[in-house]
Formats: sequence, C-alpha cells, structure tokens
Amino acid sequence: MPDISTNPDSLDIFTKDFFDTLFKGNDTCDNTDLKSQIDALKQAALDQELTTPIIALFSKLKTLQETKKLSPEAFGLSASDLTALALKHETIDEHNVSVGGRVCKALPIVKEAISRVDEYLSVKTEQAPSGFELWDTILETQDKIKSYLKMTDQDWNSYSGQISHCIDTVEDLSKVIDLPEKVIQEVAHVTQNYRMRLTPYYASLIQAAAANDPVLLQSVPTGEMVDNVGIEIPPVAADHSPARLIDQFYPRVVTIKATNMCAMYCTHCLRLAHIGKKDRIYTEQAYEEALDYIRENDRIRDILITGGDAFVLPNKILKKILTALDEIDHVKMKRLGTRIPVTAPQRVDNELLDILAQSNDRKPVRVVTQINTAQEMTPLSGDAFKRISKNVFAVLNQAVLLKGINDTKVKMWKLCETIQENYVRPYYLFNCSYRNPQFTHFRVPVEKGRDIIESMYGNISGDAIPRYIATAGGKIPLHRSNVEGAANGDIILKKPWNGEVVHYPDADQDIYANEKFAFMKP
Ligand SMILES: *Cc1c(COP(=O)(O)O)cnc(C)c1O
Ligand code: SF4
Repeated sequence: MPDISTNPDSLDIFTKDFFDTLFKGNDTCDNTDLKSQIDALKQAALDQELTTPIIALFSKLKTLQETKKLSPEAFGLSASDLTALALKHETIDEHNVSVGGRVCKALPIVKEAISRVDEYLSVKTEQAPSGFELWDTILETQDKIKSYLKMTDQDWNSYSGQISHCIDTVEDLSKVIDLPEKVIQEVAHVTQNYRMRLTPYYASLIQAAAANDPVLLQSVPTGEMVDNVGIEIPPVAADHSPARLIDQFYPRVVTIKATNMCAMYCTHCLRLAHIGKKDRIYTEQAYEEALDYIRENDRIRDILITGGDAFVLPNKILKKILTALDEIDHVKMKRLGTRIPVTAPQRVDNELLDILAQSNDRKPVRVVTQINTAQEMTPLSGDAFKRISKNVFAVLNQAVLLKGINDTKVKMWKLCETIQENYVRPYYLFNCSYRNPQFTHFRVPVEKGRDIIESMYGNISGDAIPRYIATAGGKIPLHRSNVEGAANGDIILKKPWNGEVVHYPDADQDIYANEKFAFMKP
C-alpha cells in the first residue's frame, strides 16, 4: 500500500501545477534569516491542526519562487514533505479545499476583488460624507438655527414645532444659512413662483461651507427653475387620473395622492404641478371617491398612498385610509410614500408606529421613502427608519439621479450602503424626468446613470443595488444588458465588475421542450 499521505497522485490539478512551478528554482540559499523564517513557518504548519499556518508557508514559498527564483529545496523541503502538508490541509478543511486552489486561485481572486473597492473606501468620507459623519457640525448648526428661530428644545424635538418654524421665506433662510447677497436676491425672485419650505431640522443638514451643498440644492430653488420654464408638459395627473385623487398606469397598482403637502419641498419634485402653490386639506368625500374607485375595481391589489408626503397626514386620517383599504378584499398590500423620516424625523412617533403595525398585521405595509444623499441619513433619521422597519414589511428607497447631488459612483455607492445600514433598502433610482422643464439643470444622461449602477454589481451587496428607471407614463427599466450574444448553445455574458467575458451554457432547447419528464416519463 502506498503511503497516501505523501502520494503526489492524490493532489488536485491546481496543487500539481503549483508544485511544478515551485520546484523550478534554485535549490540553494545562503540567507540564514530566510532559512530560519521558513523553518518557523514549516514547524507551525506541522505542529498545528490548522489551515492558516500551512497556507502561510505555501504563500511564502510562492513569493520566494516568484521574486527570488528559489525552490523549496533551498530550505530543505522536498516534494514529499510538501505533499504531506498539502494533504493535511485538505483533510482539515471542511470543504477539502486544496493548497493550490487556495493559494493560486482563491487568494489572488480575492486580492483583485479587494482592489476594486480600494479607491471608494479611501475617498467615500471626504466625497460623500453621511449625516452620521457630519453629526457634530450638524449639531452646532442646529444650535444656531434654534436660537435664530427662537425654538425651544421642545419645539425642535416635536413635529409640530418643526412645521410651525418652517423656513419658507428668503428672510428666514438668510438668517440660518450663510448665503451671498446675489443668491438671496435670486431665491427671493424664484420663490415668487416656486414654494420653498425647509424644516429647521433639514436646514441643519446643510454644510454651509460647501458650494452647491446637496441638501441645499434639493431644498432651495434657484434661478434655473424660472429660466428653464419653456413649453409646459401637462402634469402626470392630466392624462393618468381615472378618478379623484387616483393616478393609474398599471392594472393592479394605483396611487392615492392623499395630500398635496410635504414637510420639505424638493426642487426636483416630479409632482411640482400637483403640489401647487398652497397647502390644501382634502375632504372626506375626496377620500371616499378615491376609495370607491378602488372598491369597484377588483383587479387592484396594491395601493400606494402618496402625496405630497403620506406622513404629513394626521394619524387619524392615515388610520382611516389604511383601515378602509384593509377592509377591501381584493386589496392585498399597501405602500406609504414619505420623505418625512429624512425631512422631519420627529414625526415618527409611537402612535404612528402603532398604526403602521396594526395595518401591517392585516396586510403588508411598505414604507417608500426618498433619500438622495448619504448626508441625509443622520442618527435621528436612522433611528426613525429602524423603528419604522420593526413595524412594517419593508422600507424602500426611491432616489432620483441628480447632477451635483449623487451623480458619481462614490456618492451613489455611499448612499446605497448608508441607507441599507439603516434598515432602508434601495429600490429605484430614477433618471430625473424630462417632464418638468423647471429642473432640466439637474438632469443626468441615461448612460452616466448606467455606468454608476453597473459599477455596483459585485462590489456591494446585491440587495443594495437599486433598479434604474425612466418614468415615462409608467416605470421603464434602463439597465444595461450584460448579454453580449450567443454561440453554440452558450450565452456570452459580461461580468459587470471587471468586463470579463464568460460563456454560459444555456439550457438545452429540446430537453426543455419535452413535457414528459420526471414522474411523467412514459
Ligand atoms: C410609481 C407608481 C406606481 C408603482 O410602481 P411600482 O413599479 O410598483 O413601484 C404605481 N402607480 C403610479 C401612478 C406610480 O407613479
Ligand atoms: S417629498 Fe416628494 S412629493 Fe414632496 S416635494 Fe419632495 S419629491 Fe415632491
């Protein structure tokens, strides 16, 4: 019987190839330091019932062969010594991974993969700071804003306090943020036509020092909004509203625009026309007519309560609408569209959470939010999302791709990672719509967005990658195809993260067409 522990035939192909190269070197070495290093590694590999010391020895030998052309024999290690260690490694490893597989394949692949995120990791804090990273500065700004607006702690910490101290005039804005005179005049001019409203909390996220701060850009209208107004495209509701408060593109999902109010008005708002110039309270009849439309259309299974911002609705109304929807048999699930956890997280009180939990108990509730930069995710909004996520089926994010705000790889990765770490799952990334000429200046070419989204595959968790969408009378996917073609029954695919082309054997068409299979075989 051959001694299997040193039988080189039992080595796998990776290890055999590895050994072939290893032994192609000089078999003498007079560097005593190196010799004692190898001795120590060898002893550890022999003494311990662990994989790590064996891999450490083989990795060192690989490096010495590659850099100094030294064979293991230079250190008194024979092929059979190494075979014994390689087989010991395979025996210890639960999945019988070989030394050759680990040292020559897996470790270099991991090294290459790691290098793909090096740049991101080194610049992400500087180029795309999160509200967590900026929290100390934000707290300082909060103190200033509090005193300018004469807000008590109680005002600051309550939703009603945030709303009643909203910054909606250029006078207030210029008190709380350092803006050049020219900008102040421009904003004064634009706000004659466009409404501006920031909660003091959202204003505190602005890093005054940074030009074109992404939070500032999202909340304070600039001259472009007036300059860009050309041919008005009718608002979505004009041709997509089959009933009062309802928008419908799809057979089974509809939206109820339950309010026209938001805690903060976005400069890139798709619903600009509908949000209108002033807050409106909708009547009970309006909600009833919308609900009647849903009651009478039994194909509808998923209701999206939006606005405006669904969380602007008083708890009582929210509860009423959710209860009414839960009582309709064919309605199976609900969504609430809200930015309030980032614009006024103080709103997320226990009463609201109870309403969500109760409705979620009956039929799934998802909360769909909009976060466009990591800067908007602070300890406060993170806490709000954590509490919401404990009470609903899912918390999803719909971001808008916006020039200067999140149109780089680093900013988008950071956004997606930061929100995911705070219980929010990236769902959609919208290419900023052509529909409102007011925000033409924010638009980013479709291709640029594709590059950004493609760069995420393989580099961050799959469930942190949003779907890239164009809104044009419904949501149309914009992803780039990674199918390059087909040849001899193979589909030719490209790996998005490194461009490597792989042949993927497709299912056999004839086998697939055979209906008499498995338990139905004749
Ligand atoms: C976004 C939207 C929906 C929901 O679309 P999903 O792809 O299901 O998220 C439904 N109706 C209208 C009018 C919408 O704007
Ligand atoms: S929260 Fe939504 S609806 Fe409200 S202004 Fe912003 S984008 Fe428009």
